[in-house]
Amino acid sequence: MKRVAVVGTGVAGAYLLNRLPDNVEAEAFEMRTQKNWYTVCAWGTSQPFISDMVKQAGFNFDDYVLHKGKSMVVDLGDEQVNIPLRGLVTYDKHRLTEDMLKGKKVHWGAQIKEADGNFQGFDTVVDATGLQRSLLPKIQDDLVIPSLEYQVKSKEIPYDDFVIRPYPGLTGYWWWFPLGDGMGHVGAGDLRGRYRFELDEFVKKYHCEVVRKIGRPVRVTPPKFAEPFFEGKVTGVGESIGTVYPMLGEGIIPSMQCVNLFVDHLGDNEGYRRAVLDHFAVYSKVYEFIKAKVEDRFSLMRMWPTLLSIFLYMRGNERRYGMETRLSDFYKIVTRL
Ligand SMILES: Cc1cc2nc3c(=O)[nH]c(=O)nc-3n(C[C@H](O)[C@H](O)[C@H](O)COP(=O)(O)OP(=O)(O)OC[C@H]3O[C@@H](n4cnc5c(N)ncnc54)[C@H](O)[C@@H]3O)c2cc1C
Repeated sequence: MKRVAVVGTGVAGAYLLNRLPDNVEAEAFEMRTQKNWYTVCAWGTSQPFISDMVKQAGFNFDDYVLHKGKSMVVDLGDEQVNIPLRGLVTYDKHRLTEDMLKGKKVHWGAQIKEADGNFQGFDTVVDATGLQRSLLPKIQDDLVIPSLEYQVKSKEIPYDDFVIRPYPGLTGYWWWFPLGDGMGHVGAGDLRGRYRFELDEFVKKYHCEVVRKIGRPVRVTPPKFAEPFFEGKVTGVGESIGTVYPMLGEGIIPSMQCVNLFVDHLGDNEGYRRAVLDHFAVYSKVYEFIKAKVEDRFSLMRMWPTLLSIFLYMRGNERRYGMETRLSDFYKIVTRL
């Protein structure tokens, strides 16, 4: 493989441009103009885990960290659960992604609607368009969670660390992610859109300056149900093929992991497909659980084996998620709501 076109310069596209071997020539195509381009996200991730991946691309993650979490409050309404954090941070995702694009050939303002005819001379076209999935066939029964977020600044915010408040039925959650220096992301994603007025009330209550209003739905359909991953010259990476952890709507690390699988299987689509399905297999279990909850057909008895395997997965991957997973907290969160 000699020439690769990367469509989309979010975290997956930008990371990929820095992970391809030197003998591959890459060009990126981004629908937004350079001035209007922005990384929509709450910027939360696990520092110990992502640092190694960022290093593989030649960057030092520590230079971008904004807030190091110690404890996250999960507000269950009648009770608050305090989850000890083990590396969950916010970082300046926009600046790091922007730095990853420096010196790369990027065609800004290039909205690509189809690969056919557009990419003669390229061996592979990567669909890194996230939610849009502009170049691959649509996903049947795609589950996407509408979300909205404000970047705000205020001296009156009563929280000094991460806070989340899940909505009843686990259809999404409200969040406060601190960015340091009185700044933070207040946002919410909810299948039923119940957050509509909550963000404005927050802004009013704490006299916030709204720096930016952003939002787009998050795909929580896992890779198992987001096939095909490739068609003709096009191969998908990142959220376009469902690499978002459905319980948290967390897609930064998974999208980068997906890029690494793509690079490991360059030119071997079937090998890549199998590696993605294998690596993200647990996401399908989490998705089944979330679907059962939101469709109101959750039964603790029936789903207990699934829940146990999700718990054991998270418990065994505390470094990956940057937080301690205790059985009592997990049980409360998944059963009470
Ligand atoms: C409000 C919100 C908060 C989130 N918070 C977190 C968080 O705190 N932590 C976390 O881990 N994850 C979070 N996520 C999820 C995470 O941001 C995404 O899963 C991740 O960014 C996906 O990366 P990606 O590169 O695949 O897609 P994206 O980051 O969406 O990038 C896609 C790029 O493709 C471009 N594009 C789209 N269509 C075309 C086209 N036709 N032609 C050219 N370019 C195109 C877009 O402009 C964009 O630049 C959040 C998501 C949302 C919406």
